[in-house]
This record gives sequence, structure tokens and C-alpha cells, in this order.
Amino acid sequence: MIEVSHLTITYPNGFVAVKNVSFSIDKKEVFALVGESGCGKSTTAHALIRLLPKGSRIEGSFKLSGREIVSLKEKEMRKVRGKEIGMVFQDPLNALNPLVRVREHFFETFAAHGIKKSRDELLGRVRELFEFIDLPFEKVNSYPFELSGGQRQRVMFAIALVLNPRLIILDEPTTALDVLAQKKVLGLIDKTKETFDSATLLITHDMGVVNEVADKVAVMYKGVIMEKGDKDKVLHSP
Ligand code: ADP
Ligand code: ADP
Repeated sequence: MIEVSHLTITYPNGFVAVKNVSFSIDKKEVFALVGESGCGKSTTAHALIRLLPKGSRIEGSFKLSGREIVSLKEKEMRKVRGKEIGMVFQDPLNALNPLVRVREHFFETFAAHGIKKSRDELLGRVRELFEFIDLPFEKVNSYPFELSGGQRQRVMFAIALVLNPRLIILDEPTTALDVLAQKKVLGLIDKTKETFDSATLLITHDMGVVNEVADKVAVMYKGVIMEKGDKDKVLHSP
């Protein structure tokens, strides 16, 4: 369903951060990209939703259900982001506007993708997502800064999933959280597989997280994938 092949990413200064990377992810599959800090995990993820500094070069192919995304113009990419690909960042305070109520973040997503339904219908969809993330519905009226870190991360999850994307990218989704909030987010990753058809790309340096939720793993080192395959095979190989 998600097919990345021979992806090479060069930053504007000429540094090649990702070299000839290939992997595929099926629907309902959690694919973990792991490796030490600076190995190119975030660069890979950001290339897929095209959030790289201006002047960066992406070579290779990235297909979403057979459709080539790498060559899309920015205008078309804007339709892909949020609709076909949802993203959860490490620190949702950076991704959510702290001065905009939670519900308005959902409405902005609906509006950006031209979804014209009544406010009640849209709120109904948001309510389903709140049940999914196990957050009291009245929190839609909160500002992001009024929520705990764990609640914010779950809200980010709900926003990422609200339009049923084919791919959801989780960039260090548990790194900034305490143990209890981490557990809830890991639970959500599992629950996403039951409820949604999306493929999940999980970026993390935490092998405990990988062990708990991943189906497949790729190990990255200095921009190259050194090893990839089923979790049990990769984690327990000598
Ligand atoms: P990871 O997510 O695995 O920690 P990154 O993808 O963030 O790694 O970074 C990969 C490499 O690319 C690092 O060596 C980093 O210093 C470099 N890098 C990141 N952003 C830029 C940039 N804008 N220009 C040049 N090099 C960059
Ligand atoms: P977390 O996901 O961070 O563990 P929970 O959903 O378990 O958060 O929240 C525990 C309780 O504490 C909830 O009733 C929640 O409303 C409340 N709470 C936690 N942090 C905040 C906060 N910053 N502002 C308002 N309520 C909070």
C-alpha cells in the first residue's frame, strides 16, 4: 500500500542525509524506523509529507496505493497532507496552535480539504475520534495549552486520523511523555490497527516502544537501512 523505493534526500547544503532507502508498509501494519539520533529517520518522514527546507532534493519513488507522490507539486501535496497522510509530531505544542481551541483544529482540517457538512455532523465525527482517544468530549473547547502533554498527543492523533488517511506517520510520539501517557499512546497505536485501514510509519529511538507495537522494523545508520524485516527477526538477530 505504501511503497518507498530508492529514496535519496539531499539537504540544500549538499549533505546527503538519506541514501537509497526502500521499504513498504501494508495497511494495518506498523513499520518502525529506528536508529540513533541523526541517522536520517526524521528526514525520511518529512520527505514523505514534503516538509523539508526549500532547496532540498528528493530522488526516488514514494507510492501511496500506486500513486506516485514524489513528483507532486506543492499545491497537490497540500491535498495529500492531512487527507492521505496524517502526521503526529513529538511535541504537539509545536504542531497545535496553543491559542486556537481544539475543535477549531479539526474544523481547519475539514475546511482545508473542502469537506462541506453541517457543523453538527462534523462535531459528530470529532466526538467519535474523542471516544477513540478516550478523552472527555468537553475538551474540544479547551485550548491546547490547557491539556496535559499526554492529552495533547492523543488530540494530535485524533486530528491525524480524522480523514481516514492511508498513511499515518508518528515521529517520536512517546519521547516527550511520562510513562503513563506513553502507555496510552502505545495503546492507541494498537487500537488504530483494529479501527482504521491505515499503514503506520513509526519513527523512534526507543526499542521498548518498537518491541511493544511494531510489526516490522528497519534499522537505519548514517542514512542507510542496514537491516529490515519482521520485528522478531530483526530484534533478536545476533
Ligand atoms: P534523526 O531523525 O534520525 O535523528 P535527522 O533526519 O533529523 O535524524 O537528521 C539526519 C542528518 O541530517 C543529521 O546528520 C542532521 O544533522 C542532518 N540535517 C538535518 N537537517 C538538516 C539541514 N536542514 N541541513 C543539513 N543537514 C541537516
Ligand atoms: P495523560 O494522558 O497525560 O495521562 P489523563 O487523560 O490521564 O492524562 O488525565 C488525567 C486527569 O488529569 C484527567 O481528568 C485530566 O482532565 C486531568 N488533567 C491532567 N493534566 C491536565 C491539565 N494540564 N489541565 C487540565 N486537566 C488536566
